[in-house]
Amino acid sequence: MKKPIIAGNWKMNNTIAQTKALLTELIPLVKDEKKTEVVVCVPYTNIATAAELIKGTNIHLGAENVHWAEKGAFTGEISADMLVELGVEYVIIGHSERRQYFGETDETVNMRVKTAIAKGLKPIICVGESLELREKNRYKTFLKKQTVAALKDVTAEELDNVVIAYEPIWAIGTGKTATAEDANETIKIIRNTVAKLYDRKVANKLRIQYGGSMNAKNAHELMEQKQIDGGLIGGASLKAVDFSIVVKH
Ligand code: PEP
Repeated sequence: MKKPIIAGNWKMNNTIAQTKALLTELIPLVKDEKKTEVVVCVPYTNIATAAELIKGTNIHLGAENVHWAEKGAFTGEISADMLVELGVEYVIIGHSERRQYFGETDETVNMRVKTAIAKGLKPIICVGESLELREKNRYKTFLKKQTVAALKDVTAEELDNVVIAYEPIWAIGTGKTATAEDANETIKIIRNTVAKLYDRKVANKLRIQYGGSMNAKNAHELMEQKQIDGGLIGGASLKAVDFSIVVKH
């Protein structure tokens, strides 16, 4: 049985003091949750603090990006070894904000994914279409292409440690959620793409999250959908009570 996974994406939020306050509030709120895997993906500067605070709890640690190179002249970047050393388990790769503002491409996403896997990190790979593509009904081809590109040269065994997050760009931070049915149908397209690349069994095992204005109010309905195995949560992950409600959905 696959375990649903709810991951918070803090983005560029929270100082060390705020990280301490948020996690100190969150830990007791989710401590009895066994059905769902709980992850917090935090800014690089908060990783060590978060790792210390969640030690011995049921909360897993994630980062928000990773470079593809082992090491070297990449000023401002962070390597997989650096994350692993701090106890990071998951890493978000290819978030639409990275694609939109920082020149992330399908190719660099794939490079990061391969390095993350090789170093023992579990990638949370983000895919998602713009409003324009959705309205022009071109989103299916687009999502298939993004998915195939991200998983290039990733083996079926390696896929066991991969999570895909379907995040329609028009639903991120906008308060606009895809309807539960729509999210379910679109995730089915992604899963079918994975089935074509590997096989049906592998595709069914893969955890695919929904992300985009998922919150304490709509989490239950979204998580009830057959294809949805979790959520990537932005805004609502910054409030301990809201995030815990999403976790418990
Ligand atoms: C995200 O950025 O991954 C996200 C889903 O954000 P929000 O929940 O704020 O829409």
